[in-house]
Amino acid sequence: MDFKNFIDGTWVATSETIANVNPSDVSDIIGHAAKADAAQMDQAIDAAHRAAPEWAASTPQQRFDVLDAVGTELLARKAELGRLLSREEGKTLPEGIGEVARAGQIFKFFAGETLRQTGDRLASVRPGVEIDVTRSPVGVIGLITPWNFPIAIPAWKIAPALCYGNAVVLKPAELVPGCAHALVEILSRAGLPDGVVNLVMGRGSEIGPRLVESPKVDAISFTGSVPTGRGIAESCGRHLKKLQLEMGGKNPMVVLDDADLETAVSACLNGAFFSTGQRCTASSRLIVTDGIHDRFVTALSEAMAAMKVGNALEDGIQMGPVVDERQLQQNLSYIDIAAQDGGKVSGGERLNRATEGFYMAPALVTETDNSMRINREEVFGPIASVIRVGGYDEALQVANDTAFGLSAGICSTSLKHASHFRQNARAGMVMVNLPTAGVDYHVPFGGTKGSSFGPREQGRYAAEFYTTVKTAYTLP
Ligand code: NAD
Repeated sequence: MDFKNFIDGTWVATSETIANVNPSDVSDIIGHAAKADAAQMDQAIDAAHRAAPEWAASTPQQRFDVLDAVGTELLARKAELGRLLSREEGKTLPEGIGEVARAGQIFKFFAGETLRQTGDRLASVRPGVEIDVTRSPVGVIGLITPWNFPIAIPAWKIAPALCYGNAVVLKPAELVPGCAHALVEILSRAGLPDGVVNLVMGRGSEIGPRLVESPKVDAISFTGSVPTGRGIAESCGRHLKKLQLEMGGKNPMVVLDDADLETAVSACLNGAFFSTGQRCTASSRLIVTDGIHDRFVTALSEAMAAMKVGNALEDGIQMGPVVDERQLQQNLSYIDIAAQDGGKVSGGERLNRATEGFYMAPALVTETDNSMRINREEVFGPIASVIRVGGYDEALQVANDTAFGLSAGICSTSLKHASHFRQNARAGMVMVNLPTAGVDYHVPFGGTKGSSFGPREQGRYAAEFYTTVKTAYTLP
């Protein structure tokens, strides 16, 4: 299958392509994706720039009809598209199908939001003057997305962008062109004017800067790694461009002596290893108090040993492969670093399966402290470390001692500690007796410190980024 770019309402091929490889079976080439050059990116930006005014003038009903139709089709095709997602990204089939359903629900949510756009009318301090505060579209928005949620993240950027009347250019990650292509193909039949949605695939380092620096692009929404995000922020700063960044995490999960052991093990197993640990919200630092430490480590190790790792498309698999060889090597090197720094590693070895792929066992590193590299740097793989602490106060201090601030969790039956943690954990999202990963689609998503920058994504809060506020004074 050829995954072409979509520019100004037309599917466009490129002379060079990038192979789309199944990480569960490297002999399975899913297709070849377009590899755009800067000129093609410019064409997409120009098309969005021309189309933006027409879409900005569209009625709520027109916007509702498009978003609702896309949501309906995604939900109806979740099994087929979930299979494509799992085949190209490597998360298990139930996870892949769940992610497509999530994308559909996001479009449905923002379909509803098209009908609920409000403003404020205020009396002026000057006699007879009326004030209206309304929201307007921003214009053309560049969307840059990572590989780990190949349909949900493009959906949670495109849906609000269209809901609030913007045109977009989507630059998806190189490893997952199939899902971006499938989503844009659905959008291409949903009744949008040409040029409102454009898809440009290619190397991020080659075409990404073109999108970020173009004077015709009014705002950038980026999800990905900290180094890429930092470079984009510097460029947007120079161009005074509106910006939203969602980046990495080193998310703490505190387990207190009074936790329900079964709840804690299940939350940590899910948070650390589901989706092969490739989630920005993954629980990578397990901060465990003395009294429960040994029982917790034994129970979690047993649960990890029982996890079925294998081909993402097979029944009963709980953890699929790592996304590619580069990421697998990075994971294995962090396991070496953790061991050299004094951590005790169990699991984490490369695995062979019937098909050649990027398989590894989930890894647990015990006997670590919070200063070790394994606890400071995001790995983005199925590796969790355990930090032993004396009590709640130390646990909170360690949880907050990080450059990141995306998600933080606590397992405890103490209302006092859970409530204190909710208020004092320095993270954008706090979970009590739940995995640090796994969020609802109708509420804001995002973090603090080095994890995020700019307004929140998702829910009603998405309006902060995808609109600009206008204050109008009228003397009738
Ligand atoms: P990445 O930073 O390598 O790439 C992200 C995107 O940026 C890709 O589309 C890539 O092509 C593009 N890109 C690369 N160089 C660019 C440049 N110079 N200019 C513009 N664009 C460029 O990240 P990744 O490896 O795809 O994804 C993994 C990272 O994403 C992890 O750090 C993870 O924590 C993060 N992530 C964060 C969230 C969140 O919401 N906070 C969600 C998912 C993933």
